[in-house]
This record gives sequence, C-alpha cells and structure tokens, in this order.
Amino acid sequence: MDRGKLEESFLELIRRASTSLPPDVEAAMRRGIEAEGEETSAASSLSLMLENARQAKEGETPICQDTGALVFYIEYGPDFRQKEIEEAARAATVKATERYYLRPNAVDPVTGANSGNNLGEGAPDFHFDQRYDDGLRVRLILKGGGSENVGSQYKLPDGRLKAGRDLAGVRKCILDTVYNAQGKGCAPGVVGACIGGNRGTSFACSKKQLLRDLGDTNDDPALAELEESLMKELNSLGIGPSGFGGKTTVLGVKIGKLHRLPACFFVSVSYVCWAYRKAFMSVKGGEVAYDWD
Ligand code: SF4
Repeated sequence: MDRGKLEESFLELIRRASTSLPPDVEAAMRRGIEAEGEETSAASSLSLMLENARQAKEGETPICQDTGALVFYIEYGPDFRQKEIEEAARAATVKATERYYLRPNAVDPVTGANSGNNLGEGAPDFHFDQRYDDGLRVRLILKGGGSENVGSQYKLPDGRLKAGRDLAGVRKCILDTVYNAQGKGCAPGVVGACIGGNRGTSFACSKKQLLRDLGDTNDDPALAELEESLMKELNSLGIGPSGFGGKTTVLGVKIGKLHRLPACFFVSVSYVCWAYRKAFMSVKGGEVAYDWD
C-alpha cells in the first residue's frame, strides 16, 4: 500500500475512534438503561450520553471535548515497514487535529507548551508487534485524561486494604480503585486490570485489556470468574452514571496476568470512562477494513 493511502486509512481510523461509540459499549449502556428502569435519573443520564454519542457520529464531531491520548497497538507483517507505518500514523494525527477530530493534547511537562498537533515525546503512544504473515492490524484507543487520572497501582500485600497476595487481594484493589473514582472519571466506566509483571509492564498490560470486546470471556477460568463476580459487585456499589447513584457503575471488567518476580506482586488498574473510544483497522492486499462496518 502506498504511503498516501496508508495515511488516509489512519486518518479515517482516528475519525471513527473520536466520533463513534463502539457497538459493544453502546449495547452495554442500553443494558444499563434496562437495568435502571425507564423512569430513573440513572437511565436518563445513560440516555443522554447515548444521544450525545449519536449526535457526535451524525455530525462527525468528537464524542467528548477531551479527545484523549492516542494509544496505537500495531501488528504488521513482512510487507510493511515499522518506520513507514509510524510516519503515516503521525502524519494522520496532525491532519486529524487540523480537522478537529482531535483536540491538541500533547503538553511538554517542563515548559508547559502544547505542541498543537498531538505529536511529542511518547505521543502518540505506539506498541508494535511484528508478525510472520502479511498484512497490518491496528487497534487504537483514545484515552481521556479524567479517566487516566483515576487508574492505580498496588503492591501486595497491602496493609491499608488488608489485601494479600491472592485473587481475594486483587478483588480488593479493583474495588478500591472504582470506589475512589466516584465523582471523577465519568462513570460508567470499564476496568482493565493486570496481575503481576513489573511496575511498567503491569500498567501496560492493564491498559491492553481495554481492547477486549465487552462481551468476551477470559480464557483463564479463575480470571473469568473474578471478572464476572466483580462486575456484579461493582454495580451494587450504588455509584451509578456520573456518580449520581444507580446500578450501572461499570460496563465491563477485564483482567490479564503476567508472570512476576517472587518478591513482587503488582496489581495495576486502568479505568476508561463511558466515552470509551476504540477503533480497529486491518489492511490486507491493499484492502482496508474497519471492524463493525
Ligand atoms: S473522563 Fe471521559 S467523558 Fe469524562 S471528560 Fe474525560 S474523556 Fe470526557
């Protein structure tokens, strides 16, 4: 695929991510409306969020004014070159900012200067994975700042939470994060957690869980059970949409794991708000496809 077409494909991917709510998220919010009951304020909040998303899609405008940080997960075969993919994605990011699909969101932490085009050190955030088979598969998350701020990392055992080095301890960490996020992070949200790894890999793995479909089931039976029970438990906390009360505090809980050092037991929790913007693209033999077309 030539460079111009690749850049246009990335631009379309960013546009879709910024302006449309993924179908699994929309379906989960509709289930939330049903669970809350038509006449409740929680159901009205969820309906307003969906109406906001509908108008954004129709008008090709961002779902939220904070269009977040771009996080790309890219798998590519021998027919693609990493450097060229990155250049195309960066050029598309600049164009997407010019077209107002993205707000300028890359700020130098030392000078305070905004780059104005979403490019900077570590911005966008790229994760590359080379494959043997031809083709390109790109997954993009636009991660808003409010929800990023409420993520947490724990080192077990944790005396404050009385959490030990087991799944019961992990459960306490996830409950603690969601409890502390109330009133912030724009609930209902989705939790991506990781057990194990080191300080860095643990957080990266927790964020990667956010790529999973909300309707999937964890391959690990123990984690599948924990995801299901936490989903019920978190939705019984009463926090509800926007923190104003209700039965819909989270739309999904996804938990991954990484092998750990014997001396370390980290639990990292990433949280994403209801404006859960993710989009997928695959390129094969010059043909571009976007999931849920
Ligand atoms: S947390 Fe999400 S919905 Fe709330 S302001 Fe940030 S991006 Fe928007």
